[in-house]
Amino acid sequence: MGKSRGSLNCSPVLALLRGRVPGQVVIQYTDRCNATCPQCGMRVTASFPRSKLDTGAAKRIIDAAAAKGVQALSFTGGEPLLFAEELIGLLKYAGEAGIPYLRTGTNGFLFMHADSQAFSGRVHRLAEQLAGTPLRNFWISLDSADPSLHERMRGLPGVIKGIEKALPIFHEYGIYPAANLGINRNLGGENEKFTPGQAEQDPEEYRLQVRQALRKFYRFILNLGFTMVNACYPMSMESQGEAGLSAVYGANSVDQVIRFSPGEKLLLFQALFDVIPEYRQVIRIFTPRSSLYALMRQYQGNANYGKPCRGGRDFFYVDAKDGCTYPCGYRGHENLGRFWDLDLRRCNTGDACRKCDWECFRDPSELFGPVLDFFRSPWHLAAGFMKDREYGRVWREDLLYYKKCDFFNGRKPFSSSPKWSNKNA
Ligand code: SF4
Ligand code: SF4
Repeated sequence: MGKSRGSLNCSPVLALLRGRVPGQVVIQYTDRCNATCPQCGMRVTASFPRSKLDTGAAKRIIDAAAAKGVQALSFTGGEPLLFAEELIGLLKYAGEAGIPYLRTGTNGFLFMHADSQAFSGRVHRLAEQLAGTPLRNFWISLDSADPSLHERMRGLPGVIKGIEKALPIFHEYGIYPAANLGINRNLGGENEKFTPGQAEQDPEEYRLQVRQALRKFYRFILNLGFTMVNACYPMSMESQGEAGLSAVYGANSVDQVIRFSPGEKLLLFQALFDVIPEYRQVIRIFTPRSSLYALMRQYQGNANYGKPCRGGRDFFYVDAKDGCTYPCGYRGHENLGRFWDLDLRRCNTGDACRKCDWECFRDPSELFGPVLDFFRSPWHLAAGFMKDREYGRVWREDLLYYKKCDFFNGRKPFSSSPKWSNKNA
């Protein structure tokens, strides 16, 4: 492969020495979807012209990404598995191009009708095909600890039973899917919804309720057979609009189910921060507590706390409808053009951005931030940690945990985990 225009074309260590973090590109392969999630603008009932990237263009982006030294590529949607054959071809293509961290996921629609004769064959085929690619992480979205509420939100009846049946099949093929929790008011179930206004009336009670809902959710996915989980922070366009953002990515909504006041968000992040350590030994939890710590400080009024987001510097988003590149899914007024024309060497400029909580970019930015500081100078890193020792402690804990989890290799079981037993539920 030839050297690409505007390439950093270097190893991750060299990138860090140059003040960059290993690159990541989120490619929205399609905005078509067959689910009804109220928390998302791409639900099947939303009326707008649907798109899909042309396969040739997707390959050109992959080639450019590989040549520019990008390390991580995610294929997202919409529902990526509506185009499973194309996706599998692209995952192979990206692996052959040399991109090591490949991810994609599903809303699980293929796992419906778990009692049908075709179920086992269909899931075996899918798992086998995905296992034949270098895919590293495969996510399945989940919204609630209450199966029927999740299925109603998604409009996918019976999907939970199917997921439970599908997971051992995936494990057989050496794929360990992650549950992808989109945090919303229905997380804890029908009788434990997070009510607007409640956080302001009784913050301690609200935090307690969120903690209970999270525990319930973690127990629920452990019992389904998951060995890995991530949390997507709520993205409501109302607050983003206020921050001067304009969404390119439709995975947001103004629906009440995902609209949280800043006070509620603080309590949500605090509750996640509290509960994660209780489950880290039994399930691999992506969500870095250092990122939650930084978000908590921001929502407590310290707007510039934490590491600047690498969106538009080392991380990029490619949109299905125009095939163009954006700094992220939420800076829609900054069209950077075709990814293959992008000069990454010119992208490490501009103001530090912390305008939204998009975990895809915020979490790795926070994790890599102190590493960047270290490469700048160990003194810089030490000075940062001296300013807030608790932050330094939490970040070091994250790093050790990530290492223990083999950096979330979804092609390996969580071998260090004590066996989860239903008795623990
Ligand atoms: S959240 Fe995912 S599954 Fe749900 S409507 Fe949006 S794209 Fe579809
Ligand atoms: S914080 Fe990151 S993801 Fe959010 S708007 Fe800024 S660059 Fe985009």
